[in-house]
Amino acid sequence: MPASTPRVPKLPVVKPPRKPEFSPTRIRIFLTCPMMYRLEYVEKVGRFYHRARAGFTFGSTLHQTLQTFHEDGGSAAVSAPELIAKMETVWQSQGYESVEHEAAHKIEAVRILETYHAASEARAEMTKPFLIEKMLKWDMGLFVLTGRIDRIDEHLGDGALEIVDYKSGRQGVSEEDVKGALAMSVYQLLTKRNNPDRQVYATIHALRGGVTASASYSESEMATLEDELRGIGTLILETDFEAIQPVPLPKECPDCDFLPLCTRAWKREGRDYLSELMLTSD
Ligand code: SF4
Repeated sequence: MPASTPRVPKLPVVKPPRKPEFSPTRIRIFLTCPMMYRLEYVEKVGRFYHRARAGFTFGSTLHQTLQTFHEDGGSAAVSAPELIAKMETVWQSQGYESVEHEAAHKIEAVRILETYHAASEARAEMTKPFLIEKMLKWDMGLFVLTGRIDRIDEHLGDGALEIVDYKSGRQGVSEEDVKGALAMSVYQLLTKRNNPDRQVYATIHALRGGVTASASYSESEMATLEDELRGIGTLILETDFEAIQPVPLPKECPDCDFLPLCTRAWKREGRDYLSELMLTSD
């Protein structure tokens, strides 16, 4: 009998640890209030404090309706009445103050979708969908930059990629709004880095007003933005969140879902946080 070959034990495959992922929302929250970041992403207690809000629900319904509209072929395949019927099937009721409040929002949603459908018909001759509701990522070294994009259209003439972001609460929008919006900057960076041979620009579609505005970053602006984002991401990674305490922010705290939690911390310290917030205690 031939001598059997000794069996080499299989070594376990060691996967490198997953890098942290930072989205525009995470970055904005960190820059706005590190305590909010701690509660939302480190302690993860948001589910106990977040309230349903009409604005969020309304936006979510419209996003879902428009996602399906474009996935189903846009205005060439879906009529305006079919688009409105789709909205009815995905309608969410949480957060509205009353039946009347909800009904008024539904009437507004119908108006928005009729306007959107007409604009979409005119646009269909110049563009085709490149992607719809997709997460893009870019490795930044210590972390991964991410962004969920509503839609990217490809322009048939020159192949340019146009990132389209829906804003359900807005009547109007300007080029400065697009240029100054952190999320739009991140989306441009992600799209450009993933498609380096394409011209890229970003558009906000203010759904209530049925208007759009666009802006584009130059390559040097994009490089500066990338450096800044790398710095912010590194700062998040280096922050000792256990040591972060709530600091009253007059613009942010009154509408923040975590206010009851932070209020308790300020009361324990005997702090006059109401005057710090410039609120009255009536
Ligand atoms: S209540 Fe104010 S301090 Fe507390 S998390 Fe919210 S914004 Fe930050």
